[in-house]
Amino acid sequence: MPELPEVETTRQGITPHIKGKQVSAVILRHHQLRWPIDSQLVDYLTRKKLLNIHRRGKYLLLEFVHGHLLIHLGMSGSLRIINTKTDAPQKHDHVDIIFSGNIGLRYHDPRRFGSILWTTEDPFNHKLIRKLGPEPLLEDFTGEYLFKASRKRKKDVKTFIMDSHIVVGVGNIYANESLFTSGIRPTKAAEKLTRKQCDLWVENIKAVLQRSITQGGTTLRDFVGGDGKPGYFAQQLNVYGRGGEACVTCRHILKEIRQAQRTTVYCSRCQK
Ligand SMILES: [Zn+2]
Repeated sequence: MPELPEVETTRQGITPHIKGKQVSAVILRHHQLRWPIDSQLVDYLTRKKLLNIHRRGKYLLLEFVHGHLLIHLGMSGSLRIINTKTDAPQKHDHVDIIFSGNIGLRYHDPRRFGSILWTTEDPFNHKLIRKLGPEPLLEDFTGEYLFKASRKRKKDVKTFIMDSHIVVGVGNIYANESLFTSGIRPTKAAEKLTRKQCDLWVENIKAVLQRSITQGGTTLRDFVGGDGKPGYFAQQLNVYGRGGEACVTCRHILKEIRQAQRTTVYCSRCQK
């Protein structure tokens, strides 16, 4: 599943190719994503200039002078830059936004859980976006914030941090990894976190996300070209996907459990 670092790397990868360019056509091959794509999108976008691309949580916000196109990659979506003369559409290439100069932005999504929505209101006030918690990499996500937000919350810390109303973009991999590097047991009740643990955990969440974005930056060329497999970053993981293997710190066997239907892996010696 595309997580925040992949979405941010996508933003950085596609922006230089299409920012400031005018849309010459929109091709909708499949309207039914998570919600139907407005068939008038063709009229909304044609001959309009793309001013910029922003990100909020896992939403990409394509800014036009008269509105925004909100794109969410869902479970299996990806975006890439194509040459409209040479890159013929393949299976699951549902939407092309064609710009001047034979450049296109192609949306590919086998499972079709993603979404492409047009809005003329302030995108930060859109119903899917306005209730989102702070951006994890910005200054308003702090230990103090997390400490306050976790008071009287009996939910386990891992499920708590993956709630996008608390903070956006901490997916399963990043929750597992940051709990390990912070020495916090995933089953601990959120309200039991100390202020010190909150400070450390926030620092480690920022670090693991930033590292992933930086690594993704080296695969930016993958966003251009025909094969359409923009990278999921091969990264050094301490616990995620390593249940039953030895802890990198103490060699104790890592435990694997389920929390809110998601896999959790942790070290019962290192994480209290
Ligand atoms: Zn350990």
